[in-house]
Amino acid sequence: MQSSHSVLAARLASLVRDVPDYPQPGIVFKDITPLLANGAAFAATVDAIAELGRAQQVDAVVGIEARGFILAAPVAYALGVGFVPIRKAGKLPGATHAREYALEYGAATLEVHTDAFSPGARVLVVDDVLATGGTAAAAADLVARAGGLVTGFAFLIELTFLGGRSQIHDLPVDVLLPV
Ligand code: AMP
Repeated sequence: MQSSHSVLAARLASLVRDVPDYPQPGIVFKDITPLLANGAAFAATVDAIAELGRAQQVDAVVGIEARGFILAAPVAYALGVGFVPIRKAGKLPGATHAREYALEYGAATLEVHTDAFSPGARVLVVDDVLATGGTAAAAADLVARAGGLVTGFAFLIELTFLGGRSQIHDLPVDVLLPV
């Protein structure tokens, strides 16, 4: 018998569109817009991630700009806890912690407000795709520097062949759709 996880994964897989050579040659972009447009699948995704957050008894849910916001905000609402954005450089108006991290070509910077968490707040970090893990590692660093405690990561999709988990090996990682 299939587990409920694999049933959900099969359902989600049919709603994620592979876009070859986007945004650059050699990258297969995982387009989640068909999944988001399907009310039942979107709800099942949010419910599954919220279940993880409930089990971890989190005090806040972090979303990573931009697609992470789409998933993290309804998860926070479902749990009745706050939502905290981790944003690209220059977007947050208050005092921030910043972390530069490597991309496939070049580098990028993420930021979080220094006062985003009450001290020791338990935090679930949510994003759409775990690829090389650089973004997730930067997010973990920022949450820690802002005084939060990452209890886990939740991703809709993991590109397992890229081995991104090794960047956040000391933290629990849950994935709805490993590919
Ligand atoms: P990484 O830092 O390499 O783990 O990249 C993760 C971030 O880049 C996530 O915020 C994703 O939204 C985005 N990303 C990386 N690779 C892909 C992909 N193949 N399809 C869609 N988004 C991706």
